Amino acid sequence: MKILNGDQRHLLKEIEELRSQLQEANETIHAIRTGQIDALVVSTETGPQLYTLKSADHTYRIFIEKMKEGAVTLNQDDVILYSNSQFASMVDLPLSEVIGVQFGSFIPEGCKSEFRKLMKNGWNSDSKGEILLKNNKDRIIPVLLSFTSLELDEGTSLSVILTDLSAQKEGESQLKTKNEQLEQARRDVAKMNEELEDMVKERTKDLSLSREYFQYLANNIPVIIWTADTHGKLDYVNRRWVEYTGYDIEESKTKQTELIHPDDLEKSSLAWREALKFKQKYEQEFRFKRNPDGAYRWHYAQAIPFKDEEGHITAWIGTSIDIDDQKKQLERKDEFIGVASHELKTPMTTLKGYLQLMESQQDLSDTVKSYISKASNSLIKLQRLVDQLLDVSKIKAGKLEFSKHVFNLTELLDQCVENSSIMYPLYTIKKEFAENIMVMGNEERIEQVFMNLINNAVKYSPTNRNITVRIEEDGVSAIVSVTDFGVGMSEQDQKFIFERFYRVNGHDHVAPGLGMGLYIASEIIKEHNGEIKVKSKLNEGCVFTFSLPLVKVSDQLSI
Ligand code: ADP
Repeated sequence: MKILNGDQRHLLKEIEELRSQLQEANETIHAIRTGQIDALVVSTETGPQLYTLKSADHTYRIFIEKMKEGAVTLNQDDVILYSNSQFASMVDLPLSEVIGVQFGSFIPEGCKSEFRKLMKNGWNSDSKGEILLKNNKDRIIPVLLSFTSLELDEGTSLSVILTDLSAQKEGESQLKTKNEQLEQARRDVAKMNEELEDMVKERTKDLSLSREYFQYLANNIPVIIWTADTHGKLDYVNRRWVEYTGYDIEESKTKQTELIHPDDLEKSSLAWREALKFKQKYEQEFRFKRNPDGAYRWHYAQAIPFKDEEGHITAWIGTSIDIDDQKKQLERKDEFIGVASHELKTPMTTLKGYLQLMESQQDLSDTVKSYISKASNSLIKLQRLVDQLLDVSKIKAGKLEFSKHVFNLTELLDQCVENSSIMYPLYTIKKEFAENIMVMGNEERIEQVFMNLINNAVKYSPTNRNITVRIEEDGVSAIVSVTDFGVGMSEQDQKFIFERFYRVNGHDHVAPGLGMGLYIASEIIKEHNGEIKVKSKLNEGCVFTFSLPLVKVSDQLSI
């Protein structure tokens, strides 16, 4: 056992006293909080002072204790006389360490002068003010202070209610950020709108410029121009149209068909309907009425569909060119060719007669005989040319007429190939003939077509001298083909090869010609209700094919 000296005993006594004081203080605080006491004594520099908790009856103290807000009562030296537990937890201290402490000790340095101002106002009148609070863990809490001074028996004290503004401030700051973002978005949209407006202005300017250009161009060229909507309804005509027809756009809409010659109306209307249906180019020649003299003049009209980026037709743009003068010139030329070739026929027949007479003379020297033979060959060529010219003018006049009867196509072409082999001894003509193909037609004209194909196969195949000739049948038609391995022609040329006077560019160097043979051949085949076609590859040769209606044995019996 340890013996204590006098000092130690004294210290122990002091500790015990202090312990009992602390116990007493804790009990007092508890008693205040639970409303068990209504007064307390606080020692100040001027001695102990009694504070009665006159207004703080039991119910209100409970109420204050349960509030979300902090609540403190200060004496005139700003010392905390009373605090609810909410304030203690705001500043993160046990309640016992809050009581008796200067309220200003919870205010951070930078806010002190602001705090002093608020306190001054608070003591003078009921007032409010925002300030920052610093808790025991140095966390800064924004609070709203509401001051009310209280008259107590011991003198005036100040009641302060503290509302934690952290959540509100956080909300405000989020709102501010959101508002800023919103403002930025609004600015972006405004900028985009401005850009869009500029673009629209620019485009509108471009559009009106191009419309002006179009109108200027459309009104100042000597061609009739019109446009139609997607359904083919006229919606614009240029100045030339109005001058030519005498009708403005509104009148033209109803009088359009009146303007086309009655004989050409059906054909051109059908072509227009087909162009609309199949969304393809319209191309026609017709007689178009000129007002006010009422003359019908030949026009070449075209309309092309105008498509948007997705390929949908948005309009039709049409042009019409007056070709009446050229057409009449051509007619006069055709007429001249017809008359001239007819007039040439008689002297040529006479010439042929005299050549035959000369040939029949006895004792002709070999030199003279060879002259006569050369003259005869030239005459044959001349006759062929004149015959072709006559045919062309007959076709133009719609007078290429011939009789038709049933004949054996195989036999006819057999004979033609035999003659050709004599005419062209350097060429090998291979036959692949179906037996006894019977057709209905004109033998002379079919021979003319076939020989034209053979002549061409020879003319346009200067190197490879093989030619194949075929006759087949498919149950409906007899099909004749002539294949060569010569210069051939492009796809583009194949489209025009059966047109009058058409020649492939560059073929002049290969062989001379006038571009009439295939035109006549196609007209003859058309007259036979058949079809003529070409298939070719440049420098690989051509396959010309024509078909004729087949006559079957049963048909022959009934003829
Ligand atoms: P021509 O031969 O007298 O000019 P055609 O009407 O018979 O007249 O032929 C028209 C054109 O077609 C020819 O000028 C030639 O350019 C081309 N052509 C015809 N047949 C052939 C062929 N077998 N090979 C290549 N080109 C041909």
